[in-house]
Amino acid sequence: MGKQALKLLVVRTVAELDSWREKLPAGKIGFVPTMGALHDGHMALVQAASKTCDHVIVSIFVNPLQFGPNEDFSKYPRVLEQDLRLCEKFGVSAVFHPSVEVVYPSGQVGITTVQPPAELISGLCGAFRPGHFVGVATVVNNLFNMVRPDYAFFGEKDFQQLQVIKHMVKDLNMQVQVVGVPTVRENDGLALSSRNVYLSDVQRNLAPQIYRALTAAKDAILNGSQISDAVAAGKASLSALDGVTVQYFECCDPISLKPVTDPKAPSIVLVAAKYGEVRLIDNLVVRS
Ligand code: AMP
Repeated sequence: MGKQALKLLVVRTVAELDSWREKLPAGKIGFVPTMGALHDGHMALVQAASKTCDHVIVSIFVNPLQFGPNEDFSKYPRVLEQDLRLCEKFGVSAVFHPSVEVVYPSGQVGITTVQPPAELISGLCGAFRPGHFVGVATVVNNLFNMVRPDYAFFGEKDFQQLQVIKHMVKDLNMQVQVVGVPTVRENDGLALSSRNVYLSDVQRNLAPQIYRALTAAKDAILNGSQISDAVAAGKASLSALDGVTVQYFECCDPISLKPVTDPKAPSIVLVAAKYGEVRLIDNLVVRS
């Protein structure tokens, strides 16, 4: 049997987006920006959007501006057909799949970009990925301007990204409500990520240790440990694994992302670790 034809609308230009919007019945538009290789984590955003909004649009765009020169832009997984079928199954109204030229009509250099505040992006992932959050904020701004959604949905898995976007929307008076969605995990605790497919079997077996280390740090802090001891223990437990390099293991304020030392203050533990070439991130709220 041949594959069923797709009924889902795929739009690639601003003109096509405008014509999609003109034909829509009145109602709120919910937007889920992604880089594709969709999994249940992305679909949790789609489901959250479907609950709040009348129409859901997903973008699939691997944004060159947010990748460093030695990062995985060219080999980032691209599985459009599979993604479209998943979107159709989840009742998405349209998928926006633009070219680089549509998103960046003047090219990628010498263009207007969005610069998030240094305090938000100098630490955590920003310290290891120079230029990453300028690329993220710029593409999200461009996508918002093209899609013009009422609501936009982002995963808490990329916690620093979520805070950068929330600050951008507030600082620039953007007329969109940003909604954070809890992290979806495998049964063993590993946060779903498009990059998990890069893990070897050995690395995949060691990957759930990230969530275990975060949980242990959270429990220790809630049970009265000093934050510095809890994060040092977490970092040491992951660094002890073969082939694993911890980039950071920190406890921060959930809004400012500044390091927290008071165990009674609101806080979140965040980690980035490289399993060989595969960079995984995760986080867990300690106290909200
Ligand atoms: P990406 O395609 O990796 O750029 O992710 C697109 C959106 O999906 C971002 O807002 C991510 O935070 C979110 N996301 C990715 N993985 C997960 C997950 N495991 N649970 C919830 N949201 C996720």
